[in-house]
Amino acid sequence: EPVPSAEMDGFCRIFGVETEYGVAVTGASRPVDAGQVAMTMFQPIVSRSRSTNTYLSNGSRLYLDVGSHPEYATAEARYPREALVQDLAGERVMRNLALKAQTKLRESYGEHATIHVFKNNVDSAGHAFGCHENYLVRRFVPLEAIEHQLLPFLITRQLYTGAGRMTPDGFQITQRADFLDEAVSSATTRSRPMVNTRDEPHADPDSFRRLHVIIGDSNRSQWATWMKLAVTHLVLCVIEEAARRGVPSGFEACALADAGAANRAVSHDVTCRKARLALADPAAYRAVGESLPHERPDTDSGSIVDSIPGAADSDSDGDGNGDAVDRTDMPTALDIQYRYLAIVERFVGQHMDALEDDGRDGAAVDGIGPLASDAGPSHVIAEWRSALDALRDGRIDDLADRVDWIAKKRVLDALKRRRPDATFAQLEQFELDYHDIANGRLYDSLVSRGQLRELVTTSDVERAIHEPPADTRAALRGRFVTAALAAGAQFSADWTHLTVTAPQRHEAVLLDPFDADETPEFTRLMESLGR
Ligand code: ATP
Ligand code: MG
Ligand code: MG
Repeated sequence: EPVPSAEMDGFCRIFGVETEYGVAVTGASRPVDAGQVAMTMFQPIVSRSRSTNTYLSNGSRLYLDVGSHPEYATAEARYPREALVQDLAGERVMRNLALKAQTKLRESYGEHATIHVFKNNVDSAGHAFGCHENYLVRRFVPLEAIEHQLLPFLITRQLYTGAGRMTPDGFQITQRADFLDEAVSSATTRSRPMVNTRDEPHADPDSFRRLHVIIGDSNRSQWATWMKLAVTHLVLCVIEEAARRGVPSGFEACALADAGAANRAVSHDVTCRKARLALADPAAYRAVGESLPHERPDTDSGSIVDSIPGAADSDSDGDGNGDAVDRTDMPTALDIQYRYLAIVERFVGQHMDALEDDGRDGAAVDGIGPLASDAGPSHVIAEWRSALDALRDGRIDDLADRVDWIAKKRVLDALKRRRPDATFAQLEQFELDYHDIANGRLYDSLVSRGQLRELVTTSDVERAIHEPPADTRAALRGRFVTAALAAGAQFSADWTHLTVTAPQRHEAVLLDPFDADETPEFTRLMESLGR
């Protein structure tokens, strides 16, 4: 059987974002357990579905395990922008549940009881929790290949996708670098913890995998959520096409000598230019670089050897001036990002037609409908390059309107200047407010003052609370859930199954996530609900 070509399919992909939230309460008249509050939030769900695990009429999954970390998993989306809107709808769903629960809570815990729902990744007890990106990839690419080629990218993309974290030892670019040691370092050898250990493609296992990326932060910045999906998609396109043709992608040479150490080093370097990352094979890295003459356009002479004053990592004689370091031996995270950019850009140049076509009659390219488009790969590349250039040139604050860690750091730095005596705990409250999607004010005020970009409109998000993406199987799931609720039927669902459980059992299987067309089986299922 011929190998299915990603290019033939227009490099189409399915995106899904799982977001776990942290719940906390302040202002209560007596102590209240966060787990109990999360249960109160889910009361309306339980009375509707007799379970804390349910699917909504927009095709998403809403879930509460034991404890206080409710999760929202977006319905399958074909485009990063659609996945973004679905993820924002999840914020709204959580917020609505929280505000309802808060009204109830105040009856017993006083009028100041306030529920906070944090879209971040570390709670006050120091437990880390996740944001998982899901990407459908073609089965012919070995999982190890994806992981090895992707890991240096994922570690270095945090320069613009990190959500930032205040710690007593200083500000970090990401939330979880200190927690992900095992996940990241063993990824280079066993490569398991970076992705799901289970192989659950939620699709035809002969054709597809579901890549399950666990090392990213949850983002509040819409640009950051969109960017991480859009750029990772393009990197995956390169990996898939190289695997199909049986040639190297060029990313292999970016393999890091110690991924865990690199991950921490990147996270700790808020200059983005000092930390040097040890490569597994510097000669291979240099060789690929020579085939990409313009991978890192410098503002100065274009030299690949540079010296950064005061860069601890590059200052072997300890005189504080930094020594010249050959960046082809010990690249910075930025160098590695420029390398990925150069390879992606060359690839996009060669495959533009297929990438823009994506099999849908030209709808994807120039934005017919607010959600239909990501404005094409050239736009993604331009945004990517402009972020890297700003970091390279030390114009970090230029990115405060789109990069979470920079937005937050700027606000915190300003606060420290105004109130030099502010304690760590006070600053931390301020930081947490940025992540609070229920009662937080900082994020909204930055947006309303034009200091933080938004990419989609409020009405896009409001619509997505009820409407699934129209062009994936989520459309069918959404119709089913709506009909089952209206009929008061007992039903269950998962990503690939829709079932009416009583009085008579009916089921429809949705194996192809790209397929939004009704099947005879689905029609019968809907008929059993009186539709
Ligand atoms: P866990 O919560 O234990 O990590 P999980 O990763 O299996 O479990 P869910 O929380 O149910 O899964 O979320 C699955 C995510 O994967 C959803 O966002 C969904 O849209 C997305 N998804 C479903 N099918 C596919 C697919 N074939 N390819 C890529 N993503 C998919
Ligand atoms: Mg999940
Ligand atoms: Mg998951």
